[in-house]
Amino acid sequence: MDFYLKNENTFERLFKEYKVYNSLVVAFDFDNTVYDFHQVGLDFKDVIKLLQNLKKIGCYLIVFTSTDDEDFVKRYCKEKEIPFDAINENPPFFKSKSRKIYYNILLDDRAGLREAYDHLEKLIHHLKNTNS
Ligand SMILES: [Mg+2]
Repeated sequence: MDFYLKNENTFERLFKEYKVYNSLVVAFDFDNTVYDFHQVGLDFKDVIKLLQNLKKIGCYLIVFTSTDDEDFVKRYCKEKEIPFDAINENPPFFKSKSRKIYYNILLDDRAGLREAYDHLEKLIHHLKNTNS
């Protein structure tokens, strides 16, 4: 099996990266990851809680969204207490003209949300256990 098809390898890489920088760049999608795009009553409290906890451990959070209305994204995130450092922009410490945003991990309802969520929860859990 390909190296990064193995969950333990992607987690191990993420954990090592966190240990080096005491931070990770975490990009997260907006529609149907933290915001109920179709207004059908979906709940996003687990992902929002995770983002709040990631901020507490020093992660740099980027909203990675195809929406045109950045003001709405800003207002919504403020209202729901969703922390973020940038919208669709690379972190200041990563200079690139590429249109792909740099991140260590992505939270996206259409791109392995469950695996990314579990990795980040596990990382936070590990840190709690090693720091106490
Ligand atoms: Mg989405």
